Amino acid sequence: MAEVKGTRNDGWNLDNSYTSLPKKFFTPVEQNPVKAPELIILNEEVAKYLGLKPEELKNSDNLEVFAGNGFPEGGMPIAQAYAGHQFGHFTMLGDGRAMLLGEQITPEGKRFDIQLKGSGRTPYSRGGDGRAALGPMLREYIISEAMYALGIPTTRSLAVVTTGESTIRETVLPGAILTRVAASHIRVGTFEYASQWGNKEELRALTDYTIERHYPQVKGDKNPYVSFLRQVVKKQAQLIAKWQMVGFIHGVMNTDNVTISGETIDYGPCAFMDTYSPKTVFSSIDREGRYAYGKQPYIGGWDLARFAETLVPLLHEKQEEAVDIAQEAINEYSELYDQNWLKGMRGKLGIFNEEPQDKALIEDFLTIMEHHKADFTNTFKALTMGKFEDLPFSEATEFIHWQKQWEERLERQEESQEDSIKLMKNNNPSVIPRNHRVEEALEAAQKGDYNIMKRLVKVLSTPYDYTEEQTEYCTLPEAGNRPYRTFCGT
Ligand code: AMP
Ligand code: MG
Repeated sequence: MAEVKGTRNDGWNLDNSYTSLPKKFFTPVEQNPVKAPELIILNEEVAKYLGLKPEELKNSDNLEVFAGNGFPEGGMPIAQAYAGHQFGHFTMLGDGRAMLLGEQITPEGKRFDIQLKGSGRTPYSRGGDGRAALGPMLREYIISEAMYALGIPTTRSLAVVTTGESTIRETVLPGAILTRVAASHIRVGTFEYASQWGNKEELRALTDYTIERHYPQVKGDKNPYVSFLRQVVKKQAQLIAKWQMVGFIHGVMNTDNVTISGETIDYGPCAFMDTYSPKTVFSSIDREGRYAYGKQPYIGGWDLARFAETLVPLLHEKQEEAVDIAQEAINEYSELYDQNWLKGMRGKLGIFNEEPQDKALIEDFLTIMEHHKADFTNTFKALTMGKFEDLPFSEATEFIHWQKQWEERLERQEESQEDSIKLMKNNNPSVIPRNHRVEEALEAAQKGDYNIMKRLVKVLSTPYDYTEEQTEYCTLPEAGNRPYRTFCGT
């Protein structure tokens, strides 16, 4: 039986509100100790924000906490039950390799799930070993922190430890555990689970709990459940538009990987697009391109439709009317997404106000980028810096024509050119986690050198600063390194 290791003196201040839900939604779990844990990286900024003391977190007791060998005072390890549509097919899932230690209440009074990922088998593990390998856990650390710095809602990473044990995948890999911090781990799949295997009261309990936790502002509304649905739709429309702005491809937008809080979660086979093409897919298992860059907005709507279906029993006492209400909320999604996309793209082009032709101007530019196989990030960066000579299509007639229209468009607004450049700098990152850089960091880490990874994390922490140090991280991989492939089953 694992003992209490991290204490209140270290800043731990855990609550377990999720366990107030009906028992169907979780299973208390025993910890699965590992042999020889070692702290690889600790996120001091996140620690402090959570009210934890970074120096104390480095002590041997908290190492045991991050390894799942002991738990923090006030914690109560559970595995959460959920279902999900994976590549379109409904299935039962649940935390098969994760455990929720509890919810940390921050000094500001905010509540965050503290979850160990890779912490061993649970009743939901099915055939899996419950473990994770070092590479994928560091990958999640690097990319989730980069997403946060890019201003995109995301779960965050507090620490990665190695376990001193091996994990068998295609080869034998060093095992690791990630400590993940999330507004919550409630997913569309949690609602699908309630809808499929719970009764109406259990569904209502989950919904009321989630409203209280994430959308308390809807409680006083005439129909709080409709307002809740609409809020979730709005959050996802905002989130996916933000992904599109930086070329982020999630890779596995199954409903179990869609949070109700609106945070990006589960950095499995995700990657950032380099050459602009809506068809871009990196994940080796996504053979049909279901989760390609250009399809993400549509899939977001599909996932939300599954969510809306689960709420039908609560939306209206008459089923037909409830279905209409759900449909209406889902119909709002594409309009909301378009608005967010337009707003983001205007920012990327330095446009402040709205004109009806903006959409065409933006689309024309994307078409030019696609024709010329331009790098997504570096193209917008060159526009921002006014370095047109860096663009692969700088001499193309179609671009010269477009540039004239764009410049005229900027002149038609009140704001100065300087204002526009500032706006563009805030919307066009100068650095993203380029795939070859992430791989380079992970390869070195697997050989025991963590410096490359730590430097990468630091460089990615200020993506809108256009620093000198970032320049070397903006270069493209050598042709031989393409096409890049990511893997699930991590
Ligand atoms: P993911 O692809 O990480 O979103 O996981 C999908 C489902 O597979 C979740 O229910 C996970 O808990 C489960 N899973 C993934 N990897 C493992 C593993 N190594 N052992 C047990 N369950 C796993
Ligand atoms: Mg998942």
